[in-house]
Amino acid sequence: MKKIVVFTGAGVSAESGIKTFRDSGGLWEEYDINKVATPQAFQKNPELVLGFYNQRRKQVIDALPNAAHKALSDLEKKFDVHIITQNIDDLHERAGSKKVLHLHGEIMKAQSTRFPQLVYDVKDKEIKIGELCEKGFQLRPHIVWFGEMVPMMEPAIELVSNCDILIVIGTSLDVYPAAGLVNYAAEDAKKYLVDPKAKRLPYLMNLEIIEKTAGEGVPPLVKKLLSE
Ligand code: NAD
Repeated sequence: MKKIVVFTGAGVSAESGIKTFRDSGGLWEEYDINKVATPQAFQKNPELVLGFYNQRRKQVIDALPNAAHKALSDLEKKFDVHIITQNIDDLHERAGSKKVLHLHGEIMKAQSTRFPQLVYDVKDKEIKIGELCEKGFQLRPHIVWFGEMVPMMEPAIELVSNCDILIVIGTSLDVYPAAGLVNYAAEDAKKYLVDPKAKRLPYLMNLEIIEKTAGEGVPPLVKKLLSE
């Protein structure tokens, strides 16, 4: 069975109504990264940071998977599919994708501030000050903040290095180390990039650029791959 790795960014969830970060109208125009998405911000003003992510969680709960998420889960009929997402939402899972690796964490989960390996489902609740892990330390969102290590990078590199087909969707490829992942794909692996404002990436061999939104570009691509 051929192995497909799908690498997604905020753009895959844009048509589900979840804002991207860097586009105009994106989240970082409304919020200062340094005030809500760094360990220092959490130390300085934990209420503000928890409030920001509690709001993000509500938005995700209200959103639905779109045509792109759904088409990607169909790929599993014929391929060994691994999704690597920079997104913290759970729309790939809710669309039916079985193997989803979250590089930057998951908004539906909380982790201990002292023991990050202690991770809990938050479901539709809020994380509040005073909510503790089983060892008595404050809970925080299970999110990789700017300036923190990306613990899932190693397994992600392994997946990309060994794929036959790489599909990149809706990412500005500006946030490192995640953006560097595409460079690990083998030269002869077929690569697709679906993004209405796709970067050129002249150094990537065997690349086809589909300059469309995820909802418009992904379903026909999946149909083509399933019929080949
Ligand atoms: P980004 O905001 O930097 O880039 C978004 C990309 O999506 C751009 O290239 C843009 O052209 C493209 N895009 C916009 N609308 C699209 C559409 N309808 N279909 C396809 N592509 C579209 O986001 P990024 O590259 O993912 O990186 C920034 C960080 O933002 C990541 O760390 C990610 O964790 C985080 N983020 C996550 C979510 C989420 O969980 N849904 C939402 C916003 C940001």
